[in-house]
Amino acid sequence: MAGLFDLSGRTALVTGSARGIGYSLIEGLAAAGASVIVNGRRQEAVEAAVKKLQDKGYRTRGAVFDVADETAVAAAFAAFDRDGVEIGILVNNAGIQFRKPMVELELKDWQRVLDTNLTAAFIVGREAARRMIQRGYGGKIINIASLTSEAARATVAPYTAAKGGIRMLTRSMAAEWGQFDIQANAVGPGYILTEMNTALIENLEFDAWVKSSNPSGRWGKPEELAGTVVYLASEASSYVNGQVIYVDGGWLSVL
Ligand code: NDP
Repeated sequence: MAGLFDLSGRTALVTGSARGIGYSLIEGLAAAGASVIVNGRRQEAVEAAVKKLQDKGYRTRGAVFDVADETAVAAAFAAFDRDGVEIGILVNNAGIQFRKPMVELELKDWQRVLDTNLTAAFIVGREAARRMIQRGYGGKIINIASLTSEAARATVAPYTAAKGGIRMLTRSMAAEWGQFDIQANAVGPGYILTEMNTALIENLEFDAWVKSSNPSGRWGKPEELAGTVVYLASEASSYVNGQVIYVDGGWLSVL
């Protein structure tokens, strides 16, 4: 069985992977044998993550670009082409949060969240899929969804709209690219202990709500997402396409 999950010889790009969930995913993919490419907007953060992975003996490089910038994404993939780097696994993980009641929300903030959390998955996914199709031996795309792909909460409308969109973009990718042996799936994390949630973790009321609302009775840890992503990146999921797998401690199963 172990061979089914072996990613040796494959190259994985994880967007937004210098910290948080993205970093845990990239470490998991590297531990499963993949060569990995760390991405983020800040050179120093990307370099630090690359060094950390290299110190652990993993084959790693960095690619600094903004996932929402179509020109920058095209340039990054052109550089991969020049260097003979073939992305066989793409994880669209980069994301931002912005909290404000909708009646006070400015269009520019709505747009910024939609651009980063939804449109970027299309832009980066398109570049990766074009090459997977041309090479002719398939590939894996994993989009990071959220509990808000299924249910809404007040003050996070653009995030919720984007993550709902991720669910259907994933299905669109499966519908169009399944014929090329590309499997596109999504992983929907519950509330996970990362920098994105710093304010929520420090809010005692919110912390208590998280702990009482899901059957596991606790927050998730970033490394608890890696196994599902490795599965979706591997041969073990060769007939799994268009799915969203929630890694949420059982949150969506209960009232
Ligand atoms: P963090 O804020 O800890 O990390 C986000 C990462 O994305 C950073 O490395 C950041 O790097 C990068 N990033 C942000 N914008 C861009 C951009 N435009 N281009 C390239 N990189 C970018 O967030 P998490 O690790 O918590 O979240 C990761 C993903 O998981 C997101 O999609 C999020 O929506 C999702 N998620 C998180 C949950 C949680 O509870 N934490 C729950 C459900 C889903 P930099 O700023 O240096 O560019």
